[in-house]
Amino acid sequence: MKAAVITEYGGIDKVNVAEVDKPKPGVREVLIQVKSASLNHLDIWVTKGRPGAKKNGPHIIGSDASGIVTEVGADVKSISTGGEVIINPGLSCGICEHCRRGEQSECASFDIVGLGHQGSFAEYVVVPAANVFPKPKHLDFNEAAALPLSYVTAWRMLMTRAGLQAGQTVLIHGIGGGVALAALQLAKMAGVVVIVTSSSDDKLKKAKILGADYVINYKNKNIPAAVRDITIDRGVDIAFDTAGAATMPINFDAVKRGGKIVICGVTSGPKVELNLQALYWNQLSIIGSTMGSNDDFFRMLKAIDAAKLKPVVDSVFPVVKVRDAMTKMETGAQFGKIVLKIS
Ligand code: ZN
Repeated sequence: MKAAVITEYGGIDKVNVAEVDKPKPGVREVLIQVKSASLNHLDIWVTKGRPGAKKNGPHIIGSDASGIVTEVGADVKSISTGGEVIINPGLSCGICEHCRRGEQSECASFDIVGLGHQGSFAEYVVVPAANVFPKPKHLDFNEAAALPLSYVTAWRMLMTRAGLQAGQTVLIHGIGGGVALAALQLAKMAGVVVIVTSSSDDKLKKAKILGADYVINYKNKNIPAAVRDITIDRGVDIAFDTAGAATMPINFDAVKRGGKIVICGVTSGPKVELNLQALYWNQLSIIGSTMGSNDDFFRMLKAIDAAKLKPVVDSVFPVVKVRDAMTKMETGAQFGKIVLKIS
């Protein structure tokens, strides 16, 4: 079968579309013919050799996928061939303390499809049956492939970790990225006032159409000052941050006293100097979050289904153009998810 693989680390130019063996499902696994897959920053980090990235032999990249079940393992009773599905790319052991509490993304051996496990940018992918969910009926394969990683990550950050409540105000940095846009859509669904930032007026205009209440172009405005203006000097309840180093100090000045800063991804870098005096005096909480539990995934899907919400798809590339698609993501030019059409 055809797949986008790396055989050495080094970046996007090490990715090639090659012929590899079609995988076989184990007894508790499912083989899926991938129709569409979508890109995440993780794909780029894997090509650069992120810790945990698989090293031996050709490694298929990609975490998200939608497709059709073509074969199930002997012990899989609840999933039939022919079903239209999406995958939850989070892989956990199922037996550690965290898994038994239902916190799969806290699993000590947590892994992701496309990281330590063969990925989804391929004609076929094998995943555990527990990671297979029906494709929401209102979404086509491209839209459905855009859903899993970004939306479960945003769901857990907002709902589970930051405890978002209707009537609150949320600041979302760098609107245009998959997780940030998912956060905008989920927050608006939850009845929240949303402020978004970007350096692109075009992206801010599109965010307004999606429901953003206030927009800040940080090229010509100071974010904390603009937030203080909008919130009448109060600050936001929650700062939603996927950027990290570039935005962490800004969050300290933008959240209210007792406010929460919830972070993942750190696409602008992981290291930052912080004012701990402001942290304790203003009683701030900094909250880390990684993807989501099975419960987060299930509840995210239910909410998407109930609201008939459609993920924002920036563009669709054929799999042979995988390097172009990844380059677009690396330069941050996208507004929404970049999708690969596989078959
Ligand atoms: Zn575990």
